[in-house]
This record gives sequence, structure tokens and C-alpha cells, in this order.
Amino acid sequence: MDFELTEKQKKIQKTAAEFVKSELEPIAAELDRTKNREMLLSILKKLAGLGFMGITIDPKYGGTGAETISFSLVMTEIGRGCASTGVTTSVTNMVAEVIQGMGTDYQKDKYIPPLCSGEFPAGGFALTETVAGSDPAAMRMSAVLEGDDYVLNGQKIFISSAEFSGVFVLWAVTDKEAKKGRGISAFLVEPSFPGLKIGQHENKLGQLASPTNELILDNCRVPKENLLGVQNDGFRIAASELAGGRIGIGSMALGVGLAAMDYAAKYAKEQALGSGALADHQGIRSVIAENYTRLSGARLLLLRAAALKDQKKYYAKEASMAKVFATEAANRACQDALQIVGDYGYTQGCPTERFFRDARVTSIYEGTSEIQRLIIARELLR
Ligand SMILES: Cc1cc2nc3c(=O)[nH]c(=O)nc-3n(C[C@H](O)[C@H](O)[C@H](O)COP(=O)(O)OP(=O)(O)OC[C@H]3O[C@@H](n4cnc5c(N)ncnc54)[C@H](O)[C@@H]3O)c2cc1C
Repeated sequence: MDFELTEKQKKIQKTAAEFVKSELEPIAAELDRTKNREMLLSILKKLAGLGFMGITIDPKYGGTGAETISFSLVMTEIGRGCASTGVTTSVTNMVAEVIQGMGTDYQKDKYIPPLCSGEFPAGGFALTETVAGSDPAAMRMSAVLEGDDYVLNGQKIFISSAEFSGVFVLWAVTDKEAKKGRGISAFLVEPSFPGLKIGQHENKLGQLASPTNELILDNCRVPKENLLGVQNDGFRIAASELAGGRIGIGSMALGVGLAAMDYAAKYAKEQALGSGALADHQGIRSVIAENYTRLSGARLLLLRAAALKDQKKYYAKEASMAKVFATEAANRACQDALQIVGDYGYTQGCPTERFFRDARVTSIYEGTSEIQRLIIARELLR
């Protein structure tokens, strides 16, 4: 077993780290406070320029052609700087990947290059509905073939980047009579298709610069060549793509946790307490040691899941283990970092306040912690 990254992986990680330090970290607090759209779009464009919007995508479509390990490394670095940017990058990579994996030549040629180049600021992943969050097979969005178009009706909720996505992978029921989960299909939907409206904007606790909206489809006509994969096979596509997405979200959460702990550790060394520094106290040292140990474990689990994916081996259980562990370790690290800093840590001027809010959702979206545990147990007890 070799724990060394390859030279190429180290280079990609370094490029991401340098970009985050010089361009993203300095504006992250302002992005969070102002939700400045232009500022976010400009950062996304630069990330695309670095090849981070299609990290695992074939260069013939404008991607970087790297492996999932590099994707994980990049997502952690972006997470260190700004989780709102991180989730947008992770989902856009996931959308490009599902099109590369399941799309026709027409779909790949049409939609992947603009995702990778930044012409589309982001890609959207539209699965969740009011009655279908943890249980997406319960969705009600319908798609009926009429002539050369599918006609879609229904509503999606909590869709990240909906306001500026260039394309959505969107799921709808194509066979109401089929057994649960067997009659769902995936579609590539453009925001300009007639009948698609961006609905309510959610006011959230964290990741404030990443907009989250409803999508309303009212007799939305989607050309039949935009069916992704085989009709009624959409649930399998969603499940397999979410497993890859979980590596992205877990890696991004790891970055938030590391940033929080790095801040708290530095603060503890510099802050006076009694005759010495805060960091001289055993209780503080122990909390810092425990958190870095957990975050290191998270890193290993994430890289194991990524390596299995790269080797084209089964990795869904490992991706769920990595996601639940990394996101919970990140939440714990952000909570403990804020505690170490104390009163100032709880104020809006201190990054621990933002890290604490930003980490929270990572154990909810792309499958809650409870759902990850169900997936892991189902595999273990099979
Ligand atoms: C900021 C944000 C961005 C999002 N972005 C997207 C996006 O881009 N695209 C998209 O499709 N969705 C998105 N979502 C939706 C997200 O994926 C769902 O919130 C998530 O899947 C959980 O669904 P739910 O919130 O409806 O919870 P529910 O399914 O209603 O669950 C409620 C609670 O019950 C628990 N629970 C449910 N079933 C079980 C069970 N069988 N056993 C034990 N516990 C259970 C859950 O873990 C949870 O704690 C986003 C959500 C947020 C908050």
C-alpha cells in the first residue's frame, strides 16, 4: 500500500491550494455576507480556467482527464476557502460526469464542453421534491412522451445553483405503473426550455453564496433526444452518480473542518491565557489532537473511496462511509474550533462562525448521515 500521491496529483493539489490562498480565501467572508453573484461567477470562471469544472472529464470534451483522487484533493482545497464555491464546483463536476457516463455523443458534445469551460457557470442536479428527499423513488414529477418531446410537470425543491445552471440533470416518472423506483428517467433540461421556471429562493443557515431554489416545470417540453440513458433506468443513474458526488461533498467538508481547526490551532498558540498561551493547556491540546486525528481518518476514507472508483471497483459503501465520517468530523471540528476561540469565535468577524454554519448542511445534502448509515448497513448485512 502506497500512501504517496503521484507527482500529477501533488501538482493539481498545489495549484488548487495556491488559487484558494490567493483568490478565494480573501473574498470568502465577503461572498458569504453579500452573496455577491458577480463575485461568485467570476471565481467559478477562474476555477473552470484551471480545469476544476471537469476534473475527471476526458480532455476531448474540455476536461482535465485526472482521476477521482485529484477531484477529492481539489475539493478539499476549495472547501478550505469557501464552501459555497465548493458545493457549486462539486455538483458541476458531478453533472459533467453523469453526462460523460450516460450521455449520447450528441449530449456529450453539446453539454460537457460548456460545463468544463465555464461558459455554463454551473450544472444543476435536480432530484429532490417535497415528498422525495431521502426517498427519491417517491418523486411525483411526471414526464409523458408527446410527439418528439417529453412533457414534464411537477416541482423540484432545494436545487443548488438553479439560478445560473446551464443545464440540469432532472429526474421524472415516465412509468407510473412500474414498481417504485423502476419507472423513473433522467433528462437533460436547459433553463430556456419553455415551461421551466426558477421558483422560491431559500434563505439558509450557511453556504449563503450558493443559491438554492425551487424549479417549477409546467408543461415543460424536453426534446426526446435529451433523455439521459435508457427510459425508466433513471433511479439507477441517480444512485450511482450520488455515490461519486458523496466523495466530492465529503472532501469539501473535510476542507471546511481543516480550515476551522487550522484557525483555532493558530489562535490557541497566539492567545494568552494565564502565564502562557491557550495552547499550553492540556484540555485544548487534547481537543486539537482529537480533531486532526478524525480529519486524517476522513481523508483516508475519502481517498480509499476515490481510489476504488478510479480502479472501476465497487465503491458505493466506501463512498457512504467516507461521506458520513468526513461530514461529521468536519461538523465536530467546526464546533470545537469555535469553542476554542470562545466569544470572538461566535461573532461574524471570525471565520469560525462561517465554518460552523457552512459545515452543517454537508451531513444533510447528497444523502443525510442517516441514509449513509442505511446504505452501509444494507451492504454489510446483505
Ligand atoms: C442547501 C441545500 C442544497 C441542496 N441541493 C440539492 C440539489 O442541488 N439537488 C437536489 O436534488 N437536492 C438538493 N438538496 C436536497 C437534499 O438532497 C435533501 O435535503 C436530502 O436528500 C434530505 O432530504 P430531506 O431534507 O427531504 O429530508 P427527509 O427525507 O424528509 O428526512 C428528514 C429526516 O429523516 C431522516 N430519515 C429519512 N428517512 C430515514 C430512514 N429511512 N431512516 C432513518 N432516518 C431517516 C433523514 O435523515 C432526516 O434527518 C439540497 C438541500 C439543501 C439543504
